[in-house]
Amino acid sequence: MKVLVVEDEASLRDGIVDLLTGDGHTVVAAGDGVTGLEAGLRDPFELVVLDLMLPRRDGMEVCRRLRAARPGTPILMLTARGSEDDKVRGLIEGADDYVTKPFSARELLARVRVLGRRAPAGESLDELVIEGMRVDLARMVVEREGTQTALTPREVGIVRWLYRHKERVVTRAELLEQVFGQRGDLQTRAVDMAIAVLRKKLERDPARPTVIVSVKGAGYAWRVG
Ligand code: CA
Repeated sequence: MKVLVVEDEASLRDGIVDLLTGDGHTVVAAGDGVTGLEAGLRDPFELVVLDLMLPRRDGMEVCRRLRAARPGTPILMLTARGSEDDKVRGLIEGADDYVTKPFSARELLARVRVLGRRAPAGESLDELVIEGMRVDLARMVVEREGTQTALTPREVGIVRWLYRHKERVVTRAELLEQVFGQRGDLQTRAVDMAIAVLRKKLERDPARPTVIVSVKGAGYAWRVG
C-alpha cells in the first residue's frame, strides 16, 4: 500500500522507510510536520505513520488536520516512552493505533499490517447500509428516514473496529486500546459509556440493541451487515 511516514529523526525515518519498502509498500517520507501535512493533504495514502513530536507542526495537529481532510485514512502514531500520561493518551485518541519508541521492526510491521487490513485499497469502508440506516463513515454521519446524526471520530473508530472484526466478539480492553488509544482495566467503563451514546445514534431501540450487541462477560459484537 501507499504509506506516508512523517518522522524528524533521520536515522529512524530511513529505517522505517527501508522496512516498509522491503515489505512491499510504496513509501513517501517527510521530516517535519508542515511537509508531512502537505504531503498527506496532496495525495491519498492508505496509511500514515506519524511521529508525535515533530518540528514546525506537532504530530497531534497533523493528525487532526489529516483526520478532518481524509477521515478514512488510518493513522499510526509513534510516541516516546514515558509519555503515556493522560494528556498524551487524550491527544493520541484521534489516531487509529500507536507504537511506543523504541519499537522493534517486527512490532511496527505487525501494526502496519493490521491497519492495512482495515483499509485495503479496493475495499474502503466509507459506508454501511444497515436496517434502513446509512452510516457514512467518511462524512461521519448516520442517516435514517431523512434525519442526520453526527458521529464523533471515536464513534467512527468504534464502528470501524467492530465491523472489521464482526466475525468475533470484541473485548472492552481491545476497544479501549485500539480505538481510544488507552490501556487499563479501570477505564473500560469509558467504553461502555461510549457504546451507550453510540447506540442512541445507531439503534432503533437503544434499550434492545440489534446492531452493536452485548456479549455477556465478553464484550461487544457487530451483528448485521
Ligand atoms: Ca520526533
